[in-house]
Amino acid sequence: AAPVIAIDGPSASGKGTVAARVAAALGFAYLDSGALYRLTSLAAQRANVAWDDETGVAAIAAGLDVVFTGDDIRLAGVLVGDAIRTEEISAGASKVAALPAVRAALLFRQRAFNTAPGLVGDGRDMGSVVFPRAPLKVFLTATAEARAERRHKQLIEKGFSANLPDLLADLQLRDARDSQRSVAPLRQEVDARLLETTHLTIEQAVKQVLDWYAE
Ligand code: C5P
Repeated sequence: AAPVIAIDGPSASGKGTVAARVAAALGFAYLDSGALYRLTSLAAQRANVAWDDETGVAAIAAGLDVVFTGDDIRLAGVLVGDAIRTEEISAGASKVAALPAVRAALLFRQRAFNTAPGLVGDGRDMGSVVFPRAPLKVFLTATAEARAERRHKQLIEKGFSANLPDLLADLQLRDARDSQRSVAPLRQEVDARLLETTHLTIEQAVKQVLDWYAE
């Protein structure tokens, strides 16, 4: 199989941006695994399937009609855009992600992204479950306060209204759910390198990952 760089970490840590840039620098494919959980959350909501209905949501996950083209994501042929990035759908994503049958339904879909010349995958369990043999595993994080501020800035730039204390509370709730669930809990793997980005620029974080990969 082609090499994989697994980048895991908590919500809003900037791992998506870093992973996409590392992939571009190496000419590798990029897997935004969180998008699959977000799409499952959105598709379940649209089908009136409750986020805690494990069998129902797993069937939605298994049948997701999704096509990724560069930055574009199409669900049943229709561009999704920011519909999967709302706070509501984020909360739903973290709920459906706690269901073992949903994670199982998305596993092979994720592995299918591993094509030559290589893949950069970002998520929570890239290094632990989906690509356990990845030659480079990175645990990318930042303090909850720094992450809430980044998310706040992003939302304001996009013209959304946002409130920093609410964002911080939401993030802490999702961190707790992601790290305390029984399947694939978020944690740093023993063989993952720690990249603490609170005081790093995106460029510095990208360079660190590329330097590690070149070692
Ligand atoms: O990374 P992102 O914030 O887009 O992920 C959305 C949600 O999907 C997370 O809160 C997490 O619960 C879940 N997720 C996961 N495993 C992954 C990627 C995301 O459980 N590999």
